[in-house]
Amino acid sequence: MDPGRTGKSMSKPRRPRAVTTESGSTTGRRRPIWTCPKCGARLISKNLWHSCGTFTIEDLFTGARPGVVELARAFVGLLQSLGDVQVLSQKTRLVCVARVRFAGLYPRKTGFRAAFALRRWLRHPRIVKTADYGPRWRGHFVDIRSERDLDDELRAWLQESHDTVGIQDDIV
Ligand SMILES: [Zn+2]
Repeated sequence: MDPGRTGKSMSKPRRPRAVTTESGSTTGRRRPIWTCPKCGARLISKNLWHSCGTFTIEDLFTGARPGVVELARAFVGLLQSLGDVQVLSQKTRLVCVARVRFAGLYPRKTGFRAAFALRRWLRHPRIVKTADYGPRWRGHFVDIRSERDLDDELRAWLQESHDTVGIQDDIV
């Protein structure tokens, strides 16, 4: 009889092997980013579901007021200035990915809703909506209607989003 079964005879769960980057250095718990060969999307794991396909920013703003696509392009320029990011148009939204998705936009007829994730809650009159995906991904939304809305304040929020959530600063 073995009432005090310790579990020693049970097989241990397999531990993930240490990963090696292209440069040959180990990266601890960080997994290499996988790039979808079809659409070029950066994904945190191979064959992760994503809206795979080729959409353009114009597709997103079909039927929008004149000037909105240009406004969205200016936002994309802002996103690209944050660091090594990938900006992808998907079926219903545009996403911005560093190591992981951290920002993007949702089209509107008269502009768009800019989205970004922080580790903290930001309380500000410009935040029109929030989305709680846990302490590591707190979504914030700001309505953008003119170039004036793409200001230093928004830029600072986006940079914080990139520098924390986007590059996974909590994973060593
Ligand atoms: Zn794909």
